[in-house]
Amino acid sequence: MKSNTVWLVIPCYNEQEVLPETSKQLRDIMHGLMAEGKISSQSRIAFVNDGSKDMTWNIISQLHEEDHIFTGINLAHNRGHQNALLAGLMTAKDYADAAISLDADLQDDVGAIGQFIDKFLEGKDIVYGVRSTRATDTVFKRGTAHAFYKVMKFMGADTLEDHADYRLMSKRALEGLAQFKEVNLFLRGIVPMIGYETDIVYYERHERFAGESKYPLKKMVSFAVDGITSCSVKPIRMITTIGMLVFSISILMLIYFIVVWAMGRVVAGWTSIVISLWGIGGIILLSLGIIGEYIGKIYMEVKERPRFIIEKVLYEASPCQNKQ
Ligand code: UDP
Ligand code: MG
Repeated sequence: MKSNTVWLVIPCYNEQEVLPETSKQLRDIMHGLMAEGKISSQSRIAFVNDGSKDMTWNIISQLHEEDHIFTGINLAHNRGHQNALLAGLMTAKDYADAAISLDADLQDDVGAIGQFIDKFLEGKDIVYGVRSTRATDTVFKRGTAHAFYKVMKFMGADTLEDHADYRLMSKRALEGLAQFKEVNLFLRGIVPMIGYETDIVYYERHERFAGESKYPLKKMVSFAVDGITSCSVKPIRMITTIGMLVFSISILMLIYFIVVWAMGRVVAGWTSIVISLWGIGGIILLSLGIIGEYIGKIYMEVKERPRFIIEKVLYEASPCQNKQ
């Protein structure tokens, strides 16, 4: 039987309004799964308190007192959703065979947890939760989210559309994740890089159960910029392309101006000024792009990402037989 200790990892920032309900629903689900024998009795619901200013940590401590299925991880400071999530996952890695990350506000349909575990028991290492509809979103949120995935794709950060951070990762996938040493961690871009066998669970995203979104537009934009710049050097390449384009235009203009000049239709000095303006502008942009290319390389080097993650090694310790 596959070992099946599963941790739920839930980052919480000022979530006192939702925690009592979330914890109740999750406990029922986990006890149900334990009764079915799908997960071990060592499975836990781990709340990560991301430096909340309200009663969140008190609630988590109290839950832990009442029932040890609840585990609490308290961060010293507010470090943002992605870092809180990582703290939880890295803790879970040492205790669990798999961890499922989800939001505290019950937007990720908790009814789908069983399906994630089924896929894990089938042998999948990473299971992505993908929302089936965006019916509960405002037109604005739907539009911006769609644009976000388009831009991300165009900019070279490979993400799965309509997948947020509702996902299951096996222990070895978490160990793979632990090898990514970068500080600017964009989980959605990194997890697909780990590899292994993946699958998808479709779920309906609900409205926030209570409280307010902790992701205002400003945070969303900086999240998108972070995602692009931490996964891709494409923006630098774009400077190079523009540089080449401007430089080509300057050559075309050179030809054009020589023709006009030969016909004697210009003010003295104008031709040389305009051409050098475009020519030098093009060369500057091009040089910036080339320098950027090296900075991009340095950037990728300082991240010290793992160069490979081994999926399986076939090896037998027993002595080799001579087969003839
Ligand atoms: N969160 C966090 N730290 C932060 C902001 C958010 O841990 O600095 C948590 C929050 O408690 C929630 C999850 O991240 O569990 C997603 O946040 P939210 O629901 O506010 O985002 P939205 O669903 O509106 O995008
Ligand atoms: Mg939410």
